[in-house]
Amino acid sequence: NTTDIKILLLENVNKSGQDILKGQGYQVEFLKTSLPEDQLIEKIRDVHVIGIRSKTKLTEKVLREAKNLLVIGCFCIGTNQVDLEYAAKHGIAVFNSPFANSRSVAELVIAEIITLARQLGDRSNEMHRGTWNKVSAKCWEIRGKTLGIVGYGHIGSQLSVLAEAMGMSVIYYDIVTLMAMGKAQQVASLEELLNESDFVTLHVPATPETKNMIGAKEIQQMKNGAYLINASRGTVVDIPALINGMRSGKIAGAALDVYPHEPAANGDYFDGTLNSWGEDLRSLSNIILTPHIGGSTEEAQRAIGVEVADALVRYINYGVTLGSVNMPEVNMRAWSLDDPMHARVIYIHRNVPGVLRKVNEVLGNHNVDKQISDSRGDVAYLMADISDVKDGDLKEISDSLESLSSRIMTRVLY
Ligand code: NAD
Repeated sequence: NTTDIKILLLENVNKSGQDILKGQGYQVEFLKTSLPEDQLIEKIRDVHVIGIRSKTKLTEKVLREAKNLLVIGCFCIGTNQVDLEYAAKHGIAVFNSPFANSRSVAELVIAEIITLARQLGDRSNEMHRGTWNKVSAKCWEIRGKTLGIVGYGHIGSQLSVLAEAMGMSVIYYDIVTLMAMGKAQQVASLEELLNESDFVTLHVPATPETKNMIGAKEIQQMKNGAYLINASRGTVVDIPALINGMRSGKIAGAALDVYPHEPAANGDYFDGTLNSWGEDLRSLSNIILTPHIGGSTEEAQRAIGVEVADALVRYINYGVTLGSVNMPEVNMRAWSLDDPMHARVIYIHRNVPGVLRKVNEVLGNHNVDKQISDSRGDVAYLMADISDVKDGDLKEISDSLESLSSRIMTRVLY
């Protein structure tokens, strides 16, 4: 029953998310802050769902107390704050919102392309210091210039559309072959992209392959006077190599939103103690330095609220794990909720041999309309829709599944 579901939302989760959860009739408790560990443990014992952002640490110690917990919603991008493996092994699904801020990042990059081409950062800084310095040398329109996008995923492809609308030619490089937006063209190698682009912008994930993807060699492969933008992850650019490239004039400008080591909190100083080259970077001209704000907009926060709350509702009401970061992804169209003869059985179990046979012995007395099962590491997730259920059947099914040795969690939804 939806009104029995208890939800704790911490860290001022966006109102868009709260509204969706309240709209379902769940009991929602909302707090503006995170909680100290002892209070968190006290509260988490009681709830079926917890919504957090990056400050709440859901460690094994905390999750061990969460006896009723079904699902965790991370209303943010990252999920390092949660012990994902412990959660999976105890049948607790975890959801986040990886793509709700793609558009915000793409728009930031558009702003940076023009800002670099016109040296707006430097002119504005000069005016703030009281200096009038009207220049047109080495300032350019972006129309007709080539933008090279490295990584043509959610952000890269969105950016492609915006850049073409401003008259740029777009080329992109990606490890997979992807359909081009508009008139953009995929190129076969990073080198080809670097050779041909006036602006190079990076939109790849942090992986071993992308670590220092742009170093001294790649900077030499860029056009003279090209620009480099990184709003992906701090590991992707070798910053000392970029500093050399800018000092020599090879690179005419750069924008960095992400860094190998980022301060933990606002107000912390960005200096040589954190990154040895911090002062050198700050001393350069025509470089835009921003504190990892690519996805930081009101719209993105709202979209994160909607995306995560929708995922929670789908999981609570239908057991659908689409988009979960720690469970196999299982999705099946739901049967009519109004029909009392139907039920959906969710059986989360250890991924060991012989489970399906035993489960089907339990379900076998009923008409199984549909059944799906998938595994991820040690955990498997089975979803079965059954019909012709009568009073008392559901309790019997649930008890029988609960008594199997492979059991992690059983849910019967009807
Ligand atoms: P995505 O997963 O949708 O796209 C990434 C693309 O990179 C994919 O098409 C993939 O095939 C490609 N790729 C992976 N490895 C590659 C390689 N070695 N060479 C070439 N291409 C490669 O990701 P996204 O949502 O577009 O995000 C891109 C990056 O932006 C991520 O690193 C993400 O963490 C970062 N990001 C930053 C901010 C910010 O605030 N600055 C906000 C959101 C995302």
